[in-house]
Amino acid sequence: MEDIRGNLGKIKEQISAAAKVSGRKEDDVLLVAVSKTRTPEEINIAIDAGVTDIGENKVQEIMDKFEAVKPVKWHMIGHLQTNKVKYIIDKVSMIHSVDSYKLAAEINKRAGGKGITMDILLQVNSAQEESKFGISTDETESLIKEILETCENIRIKGLMCIAPYADDPEEIKIYFEEVKKQYDQFSKIDHERLDFKYLSMGMSHDFPVAIEAGSNLVRVGSAIFGERDYSKK
Ligand SMILES: *Cc1c(COP(=O)(O)O)cnc(C)c1O
Repeated sequence: MEDIRGNLGKIKEQISAAAKVSGRKEDDVLLVAVSKTRTPEEINIAIDAGVTDIGENKVQEIMDKFEAVKPVKWHMIGHLQTNKVKYIIDKVSMIHSVDSYKLAAEINKRAGGKGITMDILLQVNSAQEESKFGISTDETESLIKEILETCENIRIKGLMCIAPYADDPEEIKIYFEEVKKQYDQFSKIDHERLDFKYLSMGMSHDFPVAIEAGSNLVRVGSAIFGERDYSKK
């Protein structure tokens, strides 16, 4: 059995150290515990140990676990198909993976139907990797403008990125830094439905480097819950 509470303690220390390097405090960085493939029991252990936010990358997993998990903020962090938005619109507090106008328009419609405003992040693919979802850096500004003009039930809270894998995360720091630059640039846009607060970058193997580059939200799974075993699913 994985020592979830102990792992969280170690991660908090690493977050604190990395935040200091970039002139910030541990509290300036939100830890989202990524619970894909994990049971409600495991997630509840993490919540009892202080986790306030959890992330899932599949709509089905959110629906399966929602009732059995203690009150917590849910984040949709994975690729989201437009036809599934309706299942999670009243369950998640933020959607990190908005990468097209079509998806934003569907979120806007469903949020309107529930009478809510949905917080979203735009997923940027700063390394231009074919295999990853996300918008290219030069498309981001026009997507922001389009959403602000037409999606009155969406609030844009920032950017999200998944860096390419590297054995040495220092090698990919440049991608994080590039997204941070964009984040600073777009946060100056003056609009009532743009409130840049989150730069979602960093996973188990690269979160300290991402924080040093300016991330203020890290999505950490296996370092908390242990290696994932997809065969169990
Ligand atoms: C799985 C996942 C994570 C967490 O990955 P770990 O390597 O287990 O920390 C973070 N972000 C996204 C989008 C994911 O799908």
